[in-house]
Parts: sequence; C-alpha cells; structure tokens
Amino acid sequence: HIGARADEAFRLRRSTRPRENGELARVLGDPKFGEHFTDHMVLIDYSEPGGWCDARVVPYGPLTLDPASAVLHYGQEVFEGLKVYRHADGHLRTFRPEINARRFALSAARLALPELPESLFIESIRQLAQADAGWVPHQSGASLYVRPFLIATEAFLGVRPSRQATYGVIASPAGSYFADADEGISLWLSRDYSRAGLGGTGAAKCGGNYAASLLAQQQAHAHGCAQVLFTDASTRTWVEEAGSMNIFFAFSDQTIVTPPLTGTILAGVTRDSVLRLARDMGYRAVERPVSIDEWQTAAVTGELREVFAAGTAAVITPIAELVGDDLLIETPGGGTESIAARLRAELTSIQYGTSHDRYAWMLDL
Ligand code: PMP
Repeated sequence: HIGARADEAFRLRRSTRPRENGELARVLGDPKFGEHFTDHMVLIDYSEPGGWCDARVVPYGPLTLDPASAVLHYGQEVFEGLKVYRHADGHLRTFRPEINARRFALSAARLALPELPESLFIESIRQLAQADAGWVPHQSGASLYVRPFLIATEAFLGVRPSRQATYGVIASPAGSYFADADEGISLWLSRDYSRAGLGGTGAAKCGGNYAASLLAQQQAHAHGCAQVLFTDASTRTWVEEAGSMNIFFAFSDQTIVTPPLTGTILAGVTRDSVLRLARDMGYRAVERPVSIDEWQTAAVTGELREVFAAGTAAVITPIAELVGDDLLIETPGGGTESIAARLRAELTSIQYGTSHDRYAWMLDL
C-alpha cells in the first residue's frame, strides 16, 4: 500500500540486460520518434477497495493481461505525453508536469478510471528518468519522451467501470516529430470524420479519441498532408485542432488567436505556454472561435500572417496550407523571423535550459 510520501513508495528492480553502450549510442544519435524504448518502466496497480499499491520500477517488457480485461473490450484507457530534457548543468528536468498530472486525473475521471495523485504521477516520472538517465539525449532538439498510461484491468465483460487498473510509464528518446517541419506542414480538412462532439471525450486524452482519428489521418496522408484539421462535429464550421496539436492564427494587428476550450479539444500544455509567451512578447493573445471561412478570407486579404500548431511532440510547427476536396488555403510564414519561429525559440530555450526559466516551468528530476 502507498503511504503519504510518494518518493518512498517505489521499489526498483534493475534490468539485468540493459542495452549495450554501442547500441544506446546508435539510438541516441538518431532517435526519431517513439521507436525505441528505455531499459525500465514504471508500474502501479489499483484495485478497489485498497487503492493504489505496489509502485515499482522494473525491466521494460510485455504486460500480462487477462483477455477479459476491460481495456481490451471497452477501451477504458487514458494517457499522457511529456518530455525530459538534459541541461548543460548536468540536471535532468521536465516541463510543467503538474499540468500533465492534472490533465491525466481529468482524463481518468472522464473515463471512469481512478485518479492518480499528482505526487505519484510526478514521482513516477522522476523514478523512470533516474533509472534510465543515460537515455536522455544530449543534443539540442532531442529529449526523452515519457508516456504515462492507465488501463482498466478487471476481468469482467459487464459494461461498467473497472474496479482494477494498472498505471504504467514508458519512455522513448525523441528527435523531431515531423521530417521537414521547418517549411511548414500541410493539413487535410476532413469533411467525412469528426474527432469529438459536445459531451464526448474530446477534452480527455483517451486512446479512443486517437483510434477514431486514424482513418481521417490515413486520408490526410493519401492527400499528401501530414495531419488532419478537425472542425466542430455539429456544423463543421469552426476550427478545433490539428491532429495531436492545438492550432494558432497570427494576424497582422499583433493578435494571436487559438480556439477556446469548450470541451471538444485537448487543453495543451504547449497551448497554455504559447498563450503566456505570446502575451509577454507583446502580442494580444486571444481565445476565440475561428471559422474556415475566416481563415480563407483573412489569408486572401493578407490579414492572416501565420498559422502554426503547438504540442509536446512537435513543439511549434508552421502550417503552410490547408487542403480539402474543394479547398486550398495557403498561409505563407515560416522562416527564422516568423512569429512561430520566435515563439519556438523562446519555448525551447526554456525547455533546454539555454535561457533563464523566468516562469519556473522546469522541474528538477
Ligand atoms: N491536441 C491533441 C489531440 C493532442 O493529442 C495533443 C498532444 N498531447 C495536443 C493537442 C497538444 O497538447 P500538449 O501541448 O499538452 O502536448
């Protein structure tokens, strides 16, 4: 059973076969995204009525699941994504993990899963980062992507919330998410599929949202686009988000706009940080709805200067164009002087520790 002190809750069983130095160096030299996993993982079990128990760091490997586990049938699962950075002073730090911890608890509540206390969430990141410290890349632009997740494990086929769950954390060295992101990516406007409706799970980071988005993403790829742009499910008028990123519009009157959090989009940690940075850089940062029509008109009149997307994996990526069956909106921008590039530089200099952490956003691991 887990007591009040999260840092004392974990036991460590080291891998007897950690990756050899040569292989690790090869992986870290070109980490790509989500392909290689570190030597260890975190697991914590939950059951009713006992609560959270048996927090452990163990060798990375397959999980044993009863085939009747609720997650395999009803998709009761939530996850998170955040990064660990290696700073020049030798410390490993992560970015605003308390926001991920809170979002994880909100996602869990929406999926009728137990809420992991914030202290255990953050301690689990620290434990894994310390066990696999050698897996955090040194080069700028690369980091260790950490993936917490929570699955319903009760073996029962009745449709009701599972009374057992397992929390896990795995980690994977990460380079850049999009291959040629500097010039800007193309988005595909999906007219066939929606991501989230009112009262649905759009604001939760649950696997089902991503499963439901894959066919739209496949269509995007078939049209030569990197990601899907989702609009609101009822009218298909309003811009919501871009694949696994929130979207921003920069107008010529020094205003930066992103759609409001009305329950159908994910409250991105990067989104919140960009709003703050943009304000402090002298922009008017506004949360308000943006329609496809406004996007198109403002792009033609030149009032729209840039469109970009923001998320943990891709950081800040310019959007060069929106493509649809009967539509093409080109948004120039990009380049080192762009608003997107300046925001990206501000954000990454804090994350990689090359500028003063003036918002106290970084947490020592
Ligand atoms: N929207 C969706 C659907 C996402 O999956 C993500 C990635 N978590 C984001 C937005 C961006 O969120 P964050 O900045 O916290 O990574």
